[in-house]
Amino acid sequence: MKVLIVDDSAVMRKIVMKALMEAGHTDLVEAADGKEALSKSGDVDVVFTDWNMPVMDGLTFVKEFRKGSNVPVVMITTEGGQKEVLEAMKSGVTDYIVKPFTPSILVSKLESLIKK
Ligand SMILES: [Mg+2]
Repeated sequence: MKVLIVDDSAVMRKIVMKALMEAGHTDLVEAADGKEALSKSGDVDVVFTDWNMPVMDGLTFVKEFRKGSNVPVVMITTEGGQKEVLEAMKSGVTDYIVKPFTPSILVSKLESLIKK
């Protein structure tokens, strides 16, 4: 199962990837913005994406990605952005995680999505 991690922060990408790898999910792809994510999203099974990024933000990415894919997309956001994320779910975001999050929250979210 291939997981795409999209965030402009290399540190945040590493945190997410470390949590997933420790849970046995090792087929990971990373992208630093929505545009790069679109170019790497062809055969992924799940996407975790940040909202605020340069070049192309997470919401724009999801809208573009949804034109060609139904795979689950989890938006990672700050607490103040929850209202916006609920709006984003209307645009195709499957679920969301609020920062700061623990590795177990991330992994359980992934595992609940891939069971569906
Ligand atoms: Mg960001």
